[in-house]
Amino acid sequence: MLLEVSGVTKKYGPQKALDNVSISVPSGQVVGLLGPNGAGKSTLMRSILGYLPTDAGTVTFDGQDVRAGGDELKGRMGYLPEHNPLYPEMYVREFLDFIAGLHGIKGRTARAQKVEEIVERVGLTPEAHKTIGALSKGYKQRVGLAQAILHGPELLILDEPTSGLDPLQLKDIRALIRSFGEQRTVILSTHIMQEVEAMCDRVIMIKQGRIVTDAPLDDLMAQGGLEAAFNTLAG
Ligand code: ADP
Repeated sequence: MLLEVSGVTKKYGPQKALDNVSISVPSGQVVGLLGPNGAGKSTLMRSILGYLPTDAGTVTFDGQDVRAGGDELKGRMGYLPEHNPLYPEMYVREFLDFIAGLHGIKGRTARAQKVEEIVERVGLTPEAHKTIGALSKGYKQRVGLAQAILHGPELLILDEPTSGLDPLQLKDIRALIRSFGEQRTVILSTHIMQEVEAMCDRVIMIKQGRIVTDAPLDDLMAQGGLEAAFNTLAG
């Protein structure tokens, strides 16, 4: 199993943001975490990345504890945080070169090559000469995806990657995320059912820090669709 989350509980004061959460994720799945705002999706993602001390339970990636694992382990994961924090005054290539440096890619030529490869991969070529601040929301999101995949991670964690995009941008970003899922494991969060339907193989519904549904998308669709499952969740 690529990722094992076992009995993870995370409290903020008396409130449990995660309550005894367990998930196993094999390589090659696109997993959608679906739940209302405040359900615990971001907390779960940050626990998986090893950024967050938890109150109980363990997370292992390829058999290694993510809290104990160092940079080598973190380097096998890529992360697009919610709200995609970027430096608006930086040029697209300058920013990606900086990220390549952070990942230890040495040599100006090697970094430039990597940046060009990624710019092309995420469809940024026509906009790559601009500053990040001058880009549309859809292109900013491509920059966010570019920084998440630049170092070739096996697991990609995307927190609300499609929120705030217009329908055309949404279509492009969904297609890009699906294409990532052909080569690697993806865990993405959303509070919108259609996003899961459009991109995911597996649906994990979270409510108040607990997993209430964990099933293949096809099974849920055969049982009346995500809406039926989601309504049960709301009730
Ligand atoms: P989601 O990503 O599903 O919107 P979060 O994981 O961000 O949910 O939040 C889960 C719960 O934990 C929410 O009730 C939220 O208010 C709370 N929470 C998240 N981060 C913190 C924090 N740093 N301090 C206190 N409470 C927090």
